[in-house]
Amino acid sequence: MPTKLVRKSNNNRVGILATGNELTEGDILNTNSHEIAHVLNLHHLPIGLHITTSDDETDMENALKFLLKHHCVIIITGGLGPTSDDRTRFALSRVLHKELIFDENCWQNIRKRIRERLGREAHPTNRQQALFPAGSEIIPNPNGTAAGCFITHKSKMFFMLPGPPKECLPMFTEAVLPQILTRKSLKHNQIKFSWHLQGASEGEIAAQIDEAIKSYPATTGYRFYAPFLEVKIYTHAHDTLDEMLEIVEKIIAPYKVTENK
Ligand code: AMP
Ligand code: MG
Repeated sequence: MPTKLVRKSNNNRVGILATGNELTEGDILNTNSHEIAHVLNLHHLPIGLHITTSDDETDMENALKFLLKHHCVIIITGGLGPTSDDRTRFALSRVLHKELIFDENCWQNIRKRIRERLGREAHPTNRQQALFPAGSEIIPNPNGTAAGCFITHKSKMFFMLPGPPKECLPMFTEAVLPQILTRKSLKHNQIKFSWHLQGASEGEIAAQIDEAIKSYPATTGYRFYAPFLEVKIYTHAHDTLDEMLEIVEKIIAPYKVTENK
């Protein structure tokens, strides 16, 4: 039986929703969530759940409602195209109870892009790409016709981005990340320590560490990837840190290869 280690429930986290049948059906890998989480983590931003849904609007709505309950920032990718299966904006508008408003400026940009690149007029179906929930700030897409948007609702932040990584990720870096970094409630003072061990039995060392530091306000994590065992400790308690680390260091000393503090 594990000794403790129940992660405290915390809604000050970023949740990610990736949408698209191609993801749920296993046609492609969900690299957007992976990249976004990686960058958030590099900036020490707390990440909550990743959810993946198909293009089904009801599934998206349910996923958004769930994320809304447990996160203060939600990033959505995919489903912003001009076709009948691009339902993300409709799902978001329903969840936020904000009607979709046609943005003329965005529509003119779409028309211009299609005219310049493809030498034809935009099809009327493209007009849906200019619809955004009322109150949205539009996030321009320099690499495609699908603009994104940023909207706040009940003091939570929502970002909607297109699916293609070459469009989604630059928009994330340019427009989403800077906004998220302004959010004070996400700035946690959590400290993470990790070590790579070699030759240690995962179960044995984990049990030893968990037992030894059970009175400290910390969470542990273990990941075996041959030939290493990564040991991770997360804590907010700066005052008892050195004491706790000394205990851990003693246990792992015979196996320690690297440390990351
Ligand atoms: P969409 O904007 O949903 O129409 O997505 C257009 C294309 O972007 C898809 O066909 C995929 O090739 C790609 N795509 C969508 N979502 C993701 C994702 N989460 N990770 C990687 N590629 C994606
Ligand atoms: Mg799609």
